Amino acid sequence: MDYVSTRNKNNRVSAAKAIATGIAPDGGLYCPTEIPKLTEEDILALCKKDYRGRSADVLGRFLTDFTAEELESFAARAYADEKFGGPDTAPLVKLADGKYILELWHGPTCAFKDMALQMLPYLLTASLKKTGEERTACILVATSGDTGKAALEGFADVEGTKIMVYYPVDGVSTIQKLQMVTQKGKNVMVCAIRGNFDDAQSAVKKIFTDAETAKTLDENGMTLSSANSINWGRLAPQIAYYVSAYCDMLNQGEIKMGDPINVCVPTGNFGNILAAYYAKNMGVPIAKLICASNENNVLTEFFQSGGTYNKNRPFHTTSSPSMDILISSNLERLLFLASGYNDAMVAELMNQLNTDGTYTVDPSVFAGIGENFDAGCCDDAQTQETIARLFKDEQYLSDTHTAVAIKVYEDYRARTGDTTPTVIASTASPFKFCQSVITAVGGTVETDGTELLDQLHELTGAPVPAPLAALSGLTPRFNLVINRDAILESTELLQTI
Ligand SMILES: *Cc1c(COP(=O)(O)O)cnc(C)c1O
Repeated sequence: MDYVSTRNKNNRVSAAKAIATGIAPDGGLYCPTEIPKLTEEDILALCKKDYRGRSADVLGRFLTDFTAEELESFAARAYADEKFGGPDTAPLVKLADGKYILELWHGPTCAFKDMALQMLPYLLTASLKKTGEERTACILVATSGDTGKAALEGFADVEGTKIMVYYPVDGVSTIQKLQMVTQKGKNVMVCAIRGNFDDAQSAVKKIFTDAETAKTLDENGMTLSSANSINWGRLAPQIAYYVSAYCDMLNQGEIKMGDPINVCVPTGNFGNILAAYYAKNMGVPIAKLICASNENNVLTEFFQSGGTYNKNRPFHTTSSPSMDILISSNLERLLFLASGYNDAMVAELMNQLNTDGTYTVDPSVFAGIGENFDAGCCDDAQTQETIARLFKDEQYLSDTHTAVAIKVYEDYRARTGDTTPTVIASTASPFKFCQSVITAVGGTVETDGTELLDQLHELTGAPVPAPLAALSGLTPRFNLVINRDAILESTELLQTI
């Protein structure tokens, strides 16, 4: 199976090449030329496997230049029991009124990003070998908080790689910041940027297109690579957990083979929900994909307006910072799929987004999107109210991002009367966003740093995840803060690690 750029189908490469380079030379995103299909027999066979087996199977259908042995060994190591606190890598928790919470945060950094970023280093280093790349891969990451830590954890001390993470100085939670600045490993570097996530992401994109930087790195035996969700190696592992969730629904007797489910996803860069859309196109009986946003509701408006995307709006800093995004990169892949792989159309729309900050999709293309997706948003007050109510009524403690999805799902159900069982992606542990969760459940934030973890534990009785509890014993290693326009020079630091 080959991969083509969303902006020019003549840019056609192998899976290994797509993963090794991250982004196409025309600025487009690589997509597979076809979507492999799962039959009911395939799904039944997957029901008998554990998460690792399901992941290796699903990946193998997309990454045809990798062997089954390779993928099985990668999955065994990426999703090892000691990294995910046991064999139940992505547990499904049943709540009232059709809600099934898919907890994707049992990995080493307590956010769903681990599901992909524990796997990516194996896929990437193997891809570099397969494509004959001998230079050190320098992974640059712009993060709204969770990706940075998950990428650091995935790539720390991985042979043949270096990693540099940029985070917005005022855009991440106390715990997220602590997680990043205490990261261990010889090949890691962390740097704060004055600005918001979109500033950090644009600055990093600038490095990727700067010829001078590429030349200097090359002279020093290095080449750039990406761990952001534009990389297919990030997206593919995420498809597996939607397939796996359907298997768990079957195994737990919640549905029968062929019964539809909905999926509701708290969305930022549109990677997670796009993975669900791929799972649907593979044949998993997913009816509606419900896209949940916080006050940065550019996607809600896109779906509700029938296809107008407009990033010209105020940027809100919210209690669900990993969704504080106005440019949802992976929407580009949805446009490509929904238009029947119309690369010229996608290139034109992305050009308009770049120059005017807005575009409108042709109604004939939007028709295919509208029948698959629904969307909604909520503000911080509603997020807090949802956390409080869920904890009181169902004894379930949710983080802010998951709460956004739960609220949007409840609104969707009330508005449409659709009672199809719905898998809601839970994307982070509540302990990553202590201040907001403490306030939501009626506490007053009195402490700072890792004492917040203890306070939330005392208030709710919920256990502190082991990787977060371990933070209190660590000393910060990185304190660099730079201006946005100094980001190019900051790449010189790569030579010091
Ligand atoms: C990254 C992230 C999201 C958004 O996911 P996308 O794939 O970017 O849409 C939502 N919640 C949390 C906790 C995250 O870390």
